[in-house]
Amino acid sequence: MEPVVQDYTSWNQLAQNIAFGCWVLSVLIVLGHLIKLSITGDAKDKYDYINKSEINLLWIASIILVVGCCFYANSNVVELSVLWIFVRLFTTISMGLIVALIIQNLLKFYYPFYVERRLKALRYKPRISPKSGTAMKLLSEEEEDAYLDEGMQAEENLFSTDYDVWKDEETGYIKIEKYAGHLHALQCPECNYQTFKVVREEIIKQPTAAEEGEILKHYQCGYCGHKARKTVALRQSSKIEESAAATA
Ligand SMILES: [Zn+2]
Repeated sequence: MEPVVQDYTSWNQLAQNIAFGCWVLSVLIVLGHLIKLSITGDAKDKYDYINKSEINLLWIASIILVVGCCFYANSNVVELSVLWIFVRLFTTISMGLIVALIIQNLLKFYYPFYVERRLKALRYKPRISPKSGTAMKLLSEEEEDAYLDEGMQAEENLFSTDYDVWKDEETGYIKIEKYAGHLHALQCPECNYQTFKVVREEIIKQPTAAEEGEILKHYQCGYCGHKARKTVALRQSSKIEESAAATA
């Protein structure tokens, strides 16, 4: 094939500029994330922010970075023919996809271990009371019920939701934090990735005033597909017990 005789300097320059632009944008996204993390003082806010955004932001930054690399790899054109264009396009796109796939796998299957460790530390980091400035105490499951209303207790029982109650023992100040359990993945017993989640819940036995009910949780691994079921005791919240007793 006849090489097209042309000067590609302007294209090379443009491709290089696009590449640098992508890299700068990618770095800015990561920097912005780090700044947001450092200025978020409240442990719970930080927890929610990391849980919701960190992996997505890193994924977006990675894609932009890879696109930048694709442009950079094509900013050295000296000679071009139709065949060359196809070869370059094909190589660039397939290399880009491979790298993106590797990064996606790292973010989906390995990175969550690191995120999980930090989230755990944030969740149990002693909260400081705004009233007395001292560390508050995290109440146990039994102690916290006194501070959760009926709806919250029902949610704790049913929807893989966890409420943490922090109490300032000096002033009695209470801080209640909500954690969505179903968004939260556990370590899969089969493949060991942090991808084991509750996908469905069903009540198999309604609780009565006298007896605990049972709830069946279906887990499935997002990586290897491993499934498991677990029954959990379903307590009746005290309010429901009272009304049931009243209507009986
Ligand atoms: Zn698995």
